[in-house]
Amino acid sequence: MTMGSNTDFVLAVEDLTVAFDGFKAIDALTLYVDRGELRVIIGPNGAGKTTLLDLICGRTRASNGSIKFKNREMTSLPEHEIVRAGIGRKFQTPSIYENLTVFKNLEVSFPRGRGVFGALAFACTPDVRERIEQVAVEIGLQDALPMEAGLLSHGQKQWLEIGMLLMQEPELLMLDEPIAGMSVRERELTAELLDRIRQRRSMIVIEHDMDFVKKIATKVTVMHQGKILAEGPMDKVQADERVIDVYLGH
Ligand code: ADP
Ligand code: MG
Repeated sequence: MTMGSNTDFVLAVEDLTVAFDGFKAIDALTLYVDRGELRVIIGPNGAGKTTLLDLICGRTRASNGSIKFKNREMTSLPEHEIVRAGIGRKFQTPSIYENLTVFKNLEVSFPRGRGVFGALAFACTPDVRERIEQVAVEIGLQDALPMEAGLLSHGQKQWLEIGMLLMQEPELLMLDEPIAGMSVRERELTAELLDRIRQRRSMIVIEHDMDFVKKIATKVTVMHQGKILAEGPMDKVQADERVIDVYLGH
């Protein structure tokens, strides 16, 4: 395939590089994600996993290379236009409004709301309410809608933040270490949540917990030093000597 051609991939990252003071955190990386795929990215600390998501969502600017979402170049777009194009990204620490209810948190995330104040002023129409209720069911918080978000458990806060992203109906959802700090039960419920989400969307999930990765992964990408070290089905990647050396063996 030549660069610049149209593809069926939801995401086509080609020859992507970012250097911080000469250090290449992402080094000529090429990665394709199929429509409807859930791709898991693993790799040692400092491999560049979070930086890759920062580049895709426009928080960090590439030094070189291309990021195409549904064949459209994203590298020069501002963050909010990348969100509007259909890419949602969850950061490692949840950023919910602790003193608003779960319902309001979802409401302010509806794309019509321009920031928290504009959104608080806008009337909650029946279609918005319906969307909030759908998302609440999807994230398992339907009974917690009237509750203040600050009172949720750690896991529930993470799910609420995923719900806030779902309000924008992203086609590609990217999650950075979604189960960090969760209980065993919350991890199980998160695996089920990701199974529901992936029915209608493409996803990229960065995760360290190998039991969780085994549960959710079909195809795994292993990153190391800003590059792709290995890629393929979980069992193949797990048996790869280079992967065992730099990551799984530790
Ligand atoms: P991972 O998520 O795989 O643990 P990161 O993407 O967070 O790795 O980091 C990759 C490397 O890039 C690390 O060495 C980190 O220190 C460096 N890095 C990330 N962001 C910046 C930045 N804004 N400025 C300088 N160095 C950075
Ligand atoms: Mg990281």
